[in-house]
Amino acid sequence: MDAESYNRIRRIIFSTANNPERGFGVAREWLETTYRSQLDHLGYVGLKAELQFYEQCRAEFALTVAGDMGEHADFAGHYAGQVTRFDVTTNIGFKRFRDYEPHIGDGIRYRIALLDNASFEIVDVFDLAFDRCHCGGHLVPVVTMLDGNRNRHGDPLWHNDQVEMNICTGCHHLVEVNRFYNQTRFSPQEYYSDLGYIDDEDERNRAYEQYCVDNYKYFRRRHQDNLMGIAGVGYFREGYKGEDGYWGLGFNFLNRAVEDAFPFPIRMDGPYE
Ligand SMILES: [Zn+2]
Repeated sequence: MDAESYNRIRRIIFSTANNPERGFGVAREWLETTYRSQLDHLGYVGLKAELQFYEQCRAEFALTVAGDMGEHADFAGHYAGQVTRFDVTTNIGFKRFRDYEPHIGDGIRYRIALLDNASFEIVDVFDLAFDRCHCGGHLVPVVTMLDGNRNRHGDPLWHNDQVEMNICTGCHHLVEVNRFYNQTRFSPQEYYSDLGYIDDEDERNRAYEQYCVDNYKYFRRRHQDNLMGIAGVGYFREGYKGEDGYWGLGFNFLNRAVEDAFPFPIRMDGPYE
C-alpha cells in the first residue's frame, strides 16, 4: 500500500464525512464496502480509528483534518486553549515513543489519541510534551508507591508514602516532585503479598494489575495529567541462586506511550527513603 493511494482514500473518506449531504454514516459505509479491500490491514484500522476520533472529538477539540501536507499529524486543533496537533493510533507500538521526539518541544503542543484496535473506542488522549533533562532525555512523570513506613527499630507504623517523581528516559536520574502520605494505599508488592488468600494465580494477577491501574488513574486524575506509570521499589535478585542483586525501581504499570523507554528496573544505591 503506497502513501499516495492511502492519502487519496483518506481524502475521499474525510471529505465525505465533512459533506453535510453525506456525513459520517456514508463515510463509514464507503470505508467498509468500497475501500476496505483497497487498503492493507494497518491502513484500514488506522483510517477507521481516525474517522472515529474525528466524529467524536471534532467539536471538543475544534479539529481540522491534516496529514498529507507534511504536518506530521493527523489533525490540527485546540486543547486547553492551545494550538495542538493530534495523532491517532490504535497501537502505540507502531508509532514508537522515539518517533515522536523530533516534534516534541517545537512550540506546538502534540497529543496522541489512543484508540482500542478492536472496539475503536478512545482509550486516552495524552501529551508527550515532557520536560527535558540536561542530558537531552525526557522527564517522565511516575508515581512510586513505597512500602509501609517503619520506625528506627523496624516496627511498622501503618502508613505509606507515595512519591511523584520525574524519571529521565536518558540518564535515568530521579527527581522527587511531590510526596503523599496515607494509611490506606499499600505499595504494589505489599498488595500482592496480601492476595495470598486467592488460590488461582491468574485471578491473583488480575487483582494485582487492577490495583496498579486503579492507582494510576487515581494519581493521574488528582495530581498529574501526564502521569505515565506506577512504580515500586524492591530488591531485584540475580545470579544462579539469586545470591546477587540490586536495589531498583520497577514499573508495575506503564502507559504504552513510554513502555519502550524503561525496559528494565532502574538501579538505585539502596532502598528509597
Ligand atoms: Zn537525563
